[in-house]
Amino acid sequence: MLRGMRVRPAAKTTLAAAILAIAAGPATAATGGAGMSQPAPKRAASAPVVPPGPVLAPVASIPQLSAGVSFRKVSRRAVSAAALTYVSHARGPLQVRVDVVRIADGYSVFTDERTVQPETSQKVTWNGRAGNRLALDGRYQLRISLGTDAGASSAGATAPSGGGGAAPEAAAPPPGSASVRTFTFVGAVFPVRGPHDYGQGAAAFGAGRAGHVHQGQDVMAACGTPLVAARGGRVVMRAYQALAGNYVVIQDPITGQSNMYAHLRTPALVKRGQRVETGQPIGVVGETGDATACHLHFEIWTAPGWYRGGAPIDPLPTLKRWDRFS
Ligand SMILES: [Zn+2]
Repeated sequence: MLRGMRVRPAAKTTLAAAILAIAAGPATAATGGAGMSQPAPKRAASAPVVPPGPVLAPVASIPQLSAGVSFRKVSRRAVSAAALTYVSHARGPLQVRVDVVRIADGYSVFTDERTVQPETSQKVTWNGRAGNRLALDGRYQLRISLGTDAGASSAGATAPSGGGGAAPEAAAPPPGSASVRTFTFVGAVFPVRGPHDYGQGAAAFGAGRAGHVHQGQDVMAACGTPLVAARGGRVVMRAYQALAGNYVVIQDPITGQSNMYAHLRTPALVKRGQRVETGQPIGVVGETGDATACHLHFEIWTAPGWYRGGAPIDPLPTLKRWDRFS
């Protein structure tokens, strides 16, 4: 079944700005004014470019706390990771709890509770994990509360039965927690950032090839179309091979699965061993290796991954799901 070529806009968000601060960092008051004769302060040549942190604002209903949020954006609307930064203004140590709450059922998929000292910046990062799995796509809320006893907080509500992706640890956030921000989470993004279709017959998983079986799904797209990591993880292979051409394999530490991208026009932008974020550029579509047209050959391997005990599965349903959401 041949699908019509669909035109999709490239992601509007540049990935350079992937860590999105809510607003620019605190304004520096030192610019402008009468200091024209003063030489501009020199930036050390090796200084890393640090994205501005979030602006901390008082948390409604919890006057002892100020908080701010930063996101890793993967599209205009969705994020793949979130970080909450907060400071306690209490006189002494304070127990603070942060929850990531799935709005659909009101359960917390992630909890961080710690005792914090006054006026000491705390950062809680959530990378999309729900227990030992990847959280479901959807709307979530970052909530913050003053913790109770560790024992009491974990003995509350239990996870809803029937699975549905709920983490075993899932429990309702404590009463009195304050919402800091609501956001849309996606666990993965569609890797081909331009017009594409899924081809037919020989492009499908399981199609016969000379001497082997097609272990992935081909996604037809113009050479040069940007490719991004569908899921973040670690680059476990980056090489050139006669069949696959330039290819790269990224191992996802949360799901244990690996994704393999082949026929890249030039060697992948990411190095072996490198940590890659969801949505990070990894190269462009090409036709290197055994390819008769420009396309991405994409494989998904079950845990524990590519040639380390996993097995390739049909990626088409997954690709189509990602395609709808991102
Ligand atoms: Zn292929």
